[in-house]
Amino acid sequence: MLKLTNYGLYCPAGDFYIDASGKVARNIVTHAHSDHARPGHISYLTHTHSATLLRARMGKNICLQTLEYQQEINLNGVRVSLHPAGHIYGAAQVKIKHNGATWVVSGDYKLENDQLSTPFEPVKCQVFVSESTFALPVYKWLQQKEVYDQINLWWQQNKAEGITSLLFGYSLGKSQRIIKNIDHSIGKVYVHKTVGAMNDAIRHSGANLPATITLDESTRAQEVRGHLIIAPPSITAGRIMQDLHPVSIAMASGWAHTGKHMVRSNMDKGFVLSDHADWPGINRAIEESGANHVISMHGYTAELSQWLNETGLDSMELEQLKYRHTAL
Ligand SMILES: [Zn+2]
Ligand SMILES: [Zn+2]
Repeated sequence: MLKLTNYGLYCPAGDFYIDASGKVARNIVTHAHSDHARPGHISYLTHTHSATLLRARMGKNICLQTLEYQQEINLNGVRVSLHPAGHIYGAAQVKIKHNGATWVVSGDYKLENDQLSTPFEPVKCQVFVSESTFALPVYKWLQQKEVYDQINLWWQQNKAEGITSLLFGYSLGKSQRIIKNIDHSIGKVYVHKTVGAMNDAIRHSGANLPATITLDESTRAQEVRGHLIIAPPSITAGRIMQDLHPVSIAMASGWAHTGKHMVRSNMDKGFVLSDHADWPGINRAIEESGANHVISMHGYTAELSQWLNETGLDSMELEQLKYRHTAL
């Protein structure tokens, strides 16, 4: 039902792509992260909650159709619906049905309810295309409550010592999840302008996000002292604000688990918090989908497929879709 082309996953019967790159006529976007939602397509289909985010990233005038979760449409005889993926606000799994076969493309997903994204729902299918960013047994996340407690404690201790807390997290998803779940009674939450823009976009789409203050040129270091600043990892501390010292710098990421990508030498702390499913989560999602065929994409694809084949399922990596046809 789906093939892998140079533009990405393509459904020939329905004549649409999923998370395509390049320029295609109809592109279904699972969520607004830039490695999934790419500019330049003629028309887009996405979840209602992703509409403002997509427009914020690609311009107001893109041709965009939106669906609610579970709402089904017919594209050239193929039935298409979106289902909660729990990854970030508006993230969706794409379910496609045609000629008695059902496929689900997961996009990115996590099973924990982050209080902001609509929680992940398993969708029954025969073929499940699963992300595998953290598909190794070593990746097993703590309960998120414990991680928020760690962040609160770090912030509280810094504040008591007059130290500013600077926390790096992706501007879309991780930042809002942290803002939603930390203890705002400790102090004020300042955000870098790229985080501020994403906050505004999801508030505009109906998300209930606690108040934040967006940093600008007029913000003085003295004003933020002891408070929390959330900024994307691509920004260096010095570029946020000169003379932020004394400051404690931390990162919130799944990669903090193994230290991978923790390249900053000046990082004081790493909080293991991921918007992707861990190893038990991936296995549970696959099991609950009821799929006999699993196609792995994004990350540890070879490891996941090998493991699934050993457990009796039929699995292959996405790349192999270029050369192999599935039975369904
Ligand atoms: Zn993502
Ligand atoms: Zn992704």
